Order: sequence, then structure tokens, then C-alpha cells
Amino acid sequence: MLESKSLSILSEALGHLEQGFVNLPELENNIDIDALRKVMLAVADKMKDNYPYFHPFYAGQMLKPPHPIARLAYMLAVWLNPNNHALDGGRASSEMEKEAVANIAGMFGWDDFLGHLSSGGTMANLEALWVAGKLNPGKLVVASEQSHYTHHRISEVLGLKYKAVPCDRKARMNVDALEGLLKEGNVGTVVVTLGTTGIGSIDPLPEILNLREKYDFRVHVDSAYGGYFTLIGNLNQHGRKAFDAIPEVDSIVVDPHKHGLQPYGCGCVLFKDPGVGRFYKHDSPYTYFSSTELHLGEISLECSRAGASAVALWATQQLLPMDKKGEFALNLEKSRSAALDLFKRLSNDARFKMIVEPDLDIVIWVIKAKTASQISELSQKMFDLAAQKNLHLALFNLPSELLDDSWQDIEMDEDSVVCLRSCLMKPEHLDWMDQIWNVLDEVAERALDK
Ligand SMILES: *Cc1c(COP(=O)(O)O)cnc(C)c1O
Repeated sequence: MLESKSLSILSEALGHLEQGFVNLPELENNIDIDALRKVMLAVADKMKDNYPYFHPFYAGQMLKPPHPIARLAYMLAVWLNPNNHALDGGRASSEMEKEAVANIAGMFGWDDFLGHLSSGGTMANLEALWVAGKLNPGKLVVASEQSHYTHHRISEVLGLKYKAVPCDRKARMNVDALEGLLKEGNVGTVVVTLGTTGIGSIDPLPEILNLREKYDFRVHVDSAYGGYFTLIGNLNQHGRKAFDAIPEVDSIVVDPHKHGLQPYGCGCVLFKDPGVGRFYKHDSPYTYFSSTELHLGEISLECSRAGASAVALWATQQLLPMDKKGEFALNLEKSRSAALDLFKRLSNDARFKMIVEPDLDIVIWVIKAKTASQISELSQKMFDLAAQKNLHLALFNLPSELLDDSWQDIEMDEDSVVCLRSCLMKPEHLDWMDQIWNVLDEVAERALDK
């Protein structure tokens, strides 16, 4: 079941790579293969203790297997283990990073920008807010209540004041509430989430940009999860407008390790004004900037970074270019179609109650009951019963403010309600929807069975 056919290309490619170093004196490798084998089999045994993230029946949290090309390119690069801090640490992989990042910027319509890869979205957001704080010292950072929890913490780390903006019933930033805060003055940066981590909701970027005309502030887009969805043709109108407005913002974060088919350790931050590079200036005596060409460590807060991440991303973009209507985009469209399909099936079934129509590929629902606590219990029950049938879902704690008028008849005996949540990140989820539905149907029946 785990794809391994592609492994044969790895030894061929390793032989190819070795040709670049044939002028060196012969080097003998003394490896005790038996010892390696023993440990590797023990590792394989240990790793069995995981959910099957690669299988369409894993339909829970944000986990997506890397593409085989990313896996292979990453492994090949690790034979050299380049460090993209400086060109001396990895000339080829630094070049590949610059190209790969330019491709991502191009996807958002930017060709003049400053950007680089990072270990992930948190680090990328930290850099964006660090620059925002340098430009707007002493001013507030604001983000929606459904924004990633790390924005508050990052602001704390950076010594920036932070405030949360309430959401509307669609889990999107409430623009009136934002304007209320803007009127009080002292807002330096608005973080706009295009694809919230919990619900996949998209903040109304065009309306927020309109407010920028009146109240001057920086706009940072956190699209760690959603960024690549700008390529798809089946967004709703609200989503399309938000993604189309991205070129107007000041900075963007997107995670190739979320929807970009990369192994973990691959985030990306982009700044519209290349001039912000001045904030990164440092004069570390250990650093080895030996040429006048740009070393990525000169524009990055992290020092050592895996060159292999850049190699994997570059290779993936070669195989699957980020074109609208290309295979990469069409596969993302399938994820969204799968979510819309599941939403429709659940909506048409009297046992279930939906929270919001998905903006992206995340579906949230509950089994109907008289009270919030009964609903929460049923969610947990359905989650457990589905897992017994090898179908893995996720749970999500929804604050009662997000519940619309259709919840009036339900007694809210708790401040929040536990919902079922499914991130349909794999294109295969669409083809597997009948099989997924059969299990959901059966376990909902059993959950309701007293
Ligand atoms: C995942 C995510 C983050 C954090 O990124 P990591 O790569 O997990 O560090 C930040 N913002 C959003 C919207 C996310 O979905």
C-alpha cells in the first residue's frame, strides 16, 4: 500500500549525483549493513504506531502525504545535506530555493519581492510580524478569533501588543468589529487569514483593504493553509475575491508543507517591499558569506536551514507546475469538491446539522440533539466509532458565538460545542466519498442507538 516503486529511481539518481565528485580520491564506506537493517526494521515497527495519513480513510487533521517526487528529491539532497544559510553551505539548493520561492510569489502575482523558505508557517509568520513591528513600533497586531493561535504568542515573543477581532457566523473576521478597533487608533498590523486552521474560513480581504484607505495599517496575509487554493477554479465568490486581492497586501505566508505536497519543514514568507531586507542585517563573525551574491541567511531569521526542503520543493514544482488548470491545481480542486460533496450529503441528511458551508476543503458538522452537551457527547462517540472502522476524523471545539439562528432550539448548556471535523486534503478523497459516506452513515446510526 505504501508506494515504493519510485525508490528504484533513487539509486539511479544517486549514481548520477556521484558523477559530480569523481575527481576526488577514492573514499571507502564502511557500513555494517546488518546493524543498519536491524535498527531500520525496529524503526518500521515503531512507526506502525500512527494513523494512516497516506490513506483516504484518514480524513481528520491537516495531514497530507508528500508527493513521491518531494520524498525522493529530499532524500537525494540529504546525501549531501546542504545548509541554505549561505551559498558555501549549499550553492545548488540555494539557487533552487530562490527559484522555488519566486514561483510561489509568481502564483500571487508578485515578481518584485523579498522572500525565502522557513521551517514552517509559525516561523514565517514570526518574521512577517517582526518586520511589521519594526515598521510600526508600539502599535497593535490584530487578527481574528479564528486566526492561528500562534499569532498571539508570536506577538508576545516580539513584545508587540495583540488584540483578537471577533468573527461573524461564517467564522470570517467581522469587518465592523475591525473598524471599531481601527477607530480607537493604534492598530499597526491586521493579520488576514485566508483559510483558518480550524474551519478553513476566508477573511474578507477586499473589505479589509478598503479600510486601509481610511486607517493606515499593514496587511499581513496568513495563508499558511489556504495559499495554494488561489490556483483553483471552484472557489466560492467570496473566496475568489479574497485571493484575487492578495497582490495588494504587504506580506504573505504560505506553507508548502500543508498543501504544497512537501515533507514537514517547509514554510514560506514573502514581503512586497524588498527593502525590508535591511532589518535582517547582521555581522556574525561565524557566518561565511564569501561572495557578494545574496546568501539566504542574510534575509532570514533562522540560521541553518535544510537545503533539502528547497530541493524537494523545486523538484515538485518541476513535475507539477503551479498553473491554473494544471495537475497540481486540479488536484486541489478535487479536495474542495470532496468537501462540497460531503457537505451536501450531510446537509441532506436529517440526522446531521452543519455549522458553515466550507470556504475551502474542511467540513464541520454535528449530530443533532437537544442540548450542546449531548451534541458534544455524540461527536466524541461518532469519532470513536469511525476510528474503529478505520475512518479517522477530527474533533473541533466551536465557540457558541459562531452558532447561527438555527441553533435557537438547542439548549446551550455549555460555552462551546464539540463538532466533527474533516480536512479532505487528498485528491483521492473525492473518489472515495461513497466509501467514506458508508462508514459515516453506519457509525452515525450506531452513535444514535441508545
Ligand atoms: C498551520 C498554520 C500555521 C502554523 O504553521 P506551522 O507550519 O504549523 O508552523 C499558521 N497559520 C495558519 C493559518 C495555519 O493553518
